[in-house]
Formats: sequence, structure tokens, C-alpha cells
Amino acid sequence: MATIGIAGAGLVGRLAAWGLSRAGHSVEVFDPAPDALPRFDGQSAAAFTAAGMLSPMAELEAASPEIAALGLASLQLWPGIAEALGVRSCLALEGSLLLAHRQDLGAAERVLSRLRASGLAQAQPLSTAQLAQREPALLPGLQAWSLAGEGLIHPVELMAALHARAEANWHWKQAIVAVEPGQLQLSNGETRRFDWALDARGLGAKPQLPQLRGVRGEVITLDLPGHGLVRPLRLLHPRHRIYLVPRSRDQLVLGASEIESEDRSPVSLKTAVELMAAAHSVMPSLAEARIARLDRNLRPALPDNHPHSHCEPGLLRLNGLYRHGWLLAPALLQRLLQQSELASLNDE
Ligand SMILES: Cc1cc2nc3c(=O)[nH]c(=O)nc-3n(C[C@H](O)[C@H](O)[C@H](O)COP(=O)(O)OP(=O)(O)OC[C@H]3O[C@@H](n4cnc5c(N)ncnc54)[C@H](O)[C@@H]3O)c2cc1C
Repeated sequence: MATIGIAGAGLVGRLAAWGLSRAGHSVEVFDPAPDALPRFDGQSAAAFTAAGMLSPMAELEAASPEIAALGLASLQLWPGIAEALGVRSCLALEGSLLLAHRQDLGAAERVLSRLRASGLAQAQPLSTAQLAQREPALLPGLQAWSLAGEGLIHPVELMAALHARAEANWHWKQAIVAVEPGQLQLSNGETRRFDWALDARGLGAKPQLPQLRGVRGEVITLDLPGHGLVRPLRLLHPRHRIYLVPRSRDQLVLGASEIESEDRSPVSLKTAVELMAAAHSVMPSLAEARIARLDRNLRPALPDNHPHSHCEPGLLRLNGLYRHGWLLAPALLQRLLQQSELASLNDE
């Protein structure tokens, strides 16, 4: 049994706290947040704002095959994690859809050719009848492709379940200023010693990882009773990259802007108009949806937009998960926990 100090109670911190405490280690987590709850004020963990798309293949639109392969590895791990947490219903892997308006086939073809070149799983074209049968809520006549095995997760519920199930000592309102091998330095000057320290501070790790930057993302939660959308979808469009994620029978999340800025101020009119117009163009019934919440946050990213993971005796770091945190965290953390021989996220 090892003692472990974790800086950050976002996605990485909570998943690690759960995996490590489950393996019998003594875990303490430190975070400047007042408590474990989401606030939707642009200040809390990016993990709460995320739409929860788990779409490794669709991410190839802008990401590398390495990211897609890590994502595919995470998709193998999520069902076991969700099951063990007792929230299997918060994960759906029934596939996702790529959509394009006929006039935008050029933009779509660029993405499809990246998928083909990756040599990973392929997009299956759907006929008009197949699309109408699978997703009757969508505009008839759209070009559509199906990506088997992709899906969605409910971030807020998973964050709550990880906090509830991790047998850790949670220290709220406690910022960590430095993470070093075997120790965490608190903002009050105190130094806490552990066998292992894990840096999971997201953008908060910037003082020690100066290349980190925040990439602003804005999302809109929409209420539309009985909306009928089954799978998450992504619209391939020359200007507006949007996705729609069904959260429940009556709620969807629409995302997301991607702006090179660390501005945490509320959602702009421009983003709201663009996202909603593009979503309405593929799902006409959204005209009657009600705007339940507008939220924004910063994705922690490195210059190459690839994650940074580091393991040396007494010290683990996992950061720069950018727009793929929910997609990549299980595979990245599994690799780190196995390298350090501390734990495994599955029961093998
Ligand atoms: C708009 C938006 C949409 C997204 N959609 C998706 C999606 O659909 N699919 C997907 O896979 N990913 C998505 N993401 C990305 C995902 O949310 C992030 O990659 C993920 O949250 C990163 O996890 P993290 O634990 O590194 O950081 P975070 O989740 O941000 O957690 C960092 C934690 O560290 C704490 N902290 C900060 N400073 C300190 C300090 N000094 N000491 C101690 N603790 C500190 C913070 O309070 C926070 O709790 C989205 C992100 C955004 C913003």
C-alpha cells in the first residue's frame, strides 16, 4: 500500500483517486474548488463543461491517428469503469453519426479521406432510408455515415460517481503550487509528503508546465421533451464544426466552439447563434427547444494538442488532454498506473 497525493479533482484526479483507492492505496486529493459540485461558471473543472462525446474516429477530423487509437483503447475500458461505479446507464456506445448537407460534400470528403488513411475503423455510408429509420428526428436527405462503437458519456454524473466511490480524503479550497517527486506544496506554504504525487491540475499546472494554454470552448444545453435523437452526431461543415449529444430523452448538449483564448467570460452571441443555427439546420424540431444552460470553459492543451504524461519514481503527471479528456483519460491513466506498477483500471 502506497500513500498518494493528487493535485486536482477534475477528470484525471477523480479517475486516478478511484482507481488507486480501489487498488488499496491511501489517497488524498487537493483542489481549490469549494466542494465536489459543478458550478457552470467557467471556473470549475473543464470536465463538468464537456459534452461527453466519445468519438475517436470522428475526432480524426482534426486529431492524429495516435489520438484515435488511444480513444479506441479507452472505449474498451469505459464499460468496465462505468459498471464498477454503478453508472452503466450514463454510457452509451451505440455508434455516432457524421452528417453533411449535400452542398458541403467537399468538406465531408476531406474528413472521410482522413478516416480511410488512418487504417482504423471506417465510416459506413447510410442511405436516406437508413438514416430516416435510425434517426427520424433528422432532416431528410442529409448525407450520413455511421461510426460503429462510438458513443457518449454523461460527464456530470460520472464526476459525481467517481467522487462518491473513490475512498479518498478530499481537501477542498486547497491549491497546490508545486508537484514534485513524493511531495505536494500547498499555497499556504505547507509541504505534504507521499510515496507518490500526481499532477492532475489541468490548466492549473501552467506554473510548472508553461507551454500549457487554455482553449476556450462553449456549449449549450437544450431541453426538448421527447427529442428522439438516439446517437451523438457531428456535422461536417466548411465553417461550423458542431456536435449534438443526447443527454436524456428530453435534453441535448450542443457544442462546441474552439477559440484560441483564455477568456472565461460568458458565451458570446456569435457562438450561440452559429451553433444553434447549424444544429437547427440538421434537426428542425430544435426550433422549439428551450435553452437550459450556456456554459464555457478552457481545455488544457499543449502546443501539439497531444497529451503529456510523465512517470518517474514518486511522480506522475497527466495533462494537456485538450478536447479529448473523456475520450482519452482511461487509456492514458491505465498506461501511467501500469508504468508505476500502482494499479490497473480494469480487473485483469
Ligand atoms: C466546452 C468543452 C467541451 C468538451 N467536450 C469534450 C467531449 O465531448 N469529449 C471529451 O473527451 N472531452 C471533452 N472536453 C475536454 C475535457 O473536458 C478535458 O480534456 C478534461 O476535462 C481534462 O481533464 P483534467 O482532469 O486534465 O482537467 P480538468 O477537468 O479541468 O480538472 C482540473 C482540476 O484541477 C484543479 N486545479 C486547478 N488548479 C489547481 C491547483 N493549483 N491545485 C490543485 N488543483 C487545481 C481544478 O479546480 C480542476 O478541478 C471538453 C472540454 C470543454 C471545455
